[in-house]
Amino acid sequence: MNAIRPNSAMARDIAFHIHQQTDLKAHKEQGGTLFTKGDGIHVFDENGKEYIEGMAGLWCASLGFSEKRLAEAAYKQLLQLPYYHTFFGNGHTLATDLAEKLISMAPVKMSKVLFQCSGSECNDAAVKLIWYYHNAIGKPEKKKIIGRERGYHGNTIASVSISGQPHMRAGFDIPLPGFVHTDNPNYYRGHEEGETEEQFSDRMAANLEKLILAEGPETVAAFFGEPVQGGGGALTPPRTYWAKIQAVLKKYDVLFVADEVICGFGRTGNMWGSQTYDLQPDMLSCAKALTASYQPLSALMISEKIYEAMVKQSETHGSFGHGFTYGAHPVACAVALETQKIYEERDIVGHVKAVSPAFLGGLEKFSQHPLVGDVRGVGLIAGVELMADGAKRVPFPAARKVGNLVMAKAADHGLIVRAIGDRIAFTPPLIITEAEIAEMLSRFGKALDDAYAVLKSEGVA
Ligand code: PMP
Repeated sequence: MNAIRPNSAMARDIAFHIHQQTDLKAHKEQGGTLFTKGDGIHVFDENGKEYIEGMAGLWCASLGFSEKRLAEAAYKQLLQLPYYHTFFGNGHTLATDLAEKLISMAPVKMSKVLFQCSGSECNDAAVKLIWYYHNAIGKPEKKKIIGRERGYHGNTIASVSISGQPHMRAGFDIPLPGFVHTDNPNYYRGHEEGETEEQFSDRMAANLEKLILAEGPETVAAFFGEPVQGGGGALTPPRTYWAKIQAVLKKYDVLFVADEVICGFGRTGNMWGSQTYDLQPDMLSCAKALTASYQPLSALMISEKIYEAMVKQSETHGSFGHGFTYGAHPVACAVALETQKIYEERDIVGHVKAVSPAFLGGLEKFSQHPLVGDVRGVGLIAGVELMADGAKRVPFPAARKVGNLVMAKAADHGLIVRAIGDRIAFTPPLIITEAEIAEMLSRFGKALDDAYAVLKSEGVA
């Protein structure tokens, strides 16, 4: 770690800036990394060091870090109409065009789109709409929301209450009452000896049913799930999981919200994770790759039955009392429309399908590495489980923070990945080429070797 020079950008950053999702004490003592430039799948820090962004930022910069067309779309819109809102029936044609486009792309029949600024706001709005809907249809007692342990749906008070991330609850009096959680479907870590993926999925669905029955089905409104869990570890669902979970939701008349904030727009090798896993959501939230993350924007798609009930409810109350100053921001909508054009012109879904075998196959080879217990992924999202003994599923001591060690070694070799506990997540920009995948994996291999050498010297590996 370099010493922090007085008055350097890092010293000023430590002095004035609170970083999000950050170990505040460590940042205060050691600072972090400040980035100044992007180029394709690469980013550069303030010292000029180059990194492959193996996480596309926060699972989001789908078109990399130097797509000029998106900068131009934003600039053009800033000159034309830099701001307008969508309150009181007002709006602008960009939101109209984008809403129409999203409805035409939806994985199941959807009726309307509500634009917000972030994934969190989108899921928060989904909760409000779910409550609004149940009031409208005369079921005011049906309000509870089910999330999953280690699921992630955002950081507003409601969206983080749906989430199942222990460190985001601790110290914040989260979750709110009425938010309950079912199992995290990590087959590798969670299966009993001899239990197949299908049997594990049976158990997950049976536990969900038990939870609904314990809470009282008449009180349970909705279930939120990411097709592939992101913040929970870039975790693909075990075989037959989604079919079994959806059957339980149907049985008890529980709405299903597919959180496609990470999976939407090609990440899993289809336009939607819902297509990859045959999901039939009543609502769908998306963000991140909607604009390739060049502007903040999210979209909540809802089915006609929910929209009709909302109209009825809004008649009762004089209007639909929800909205944000920056929701459906015209610059963000312009960038989203251009992003969608680029996806189509470059057949981004076809590209993900084409390069996915090199990505998943290359990562799979690390299963043989002494630090690796399991590798799972789909499309261009994958997680690598680090284990003291992979075959026997013996984890490393949590206090050693082996995931963080591998992440730091990767950064030394010019690769940004994310440690989620001892699981290493990869979600590179969707534009990554096979040659770039090879380079990314080569840097990862060096990081694993370096970490192994350290752990061996400590007697941990
Ligand atoms: N849902 C999922 C699945 C996410 O991964 C995230 C962010 N990583 C969110 C919601 C929240 O999105 P935002 O950070 O834009 O609020």
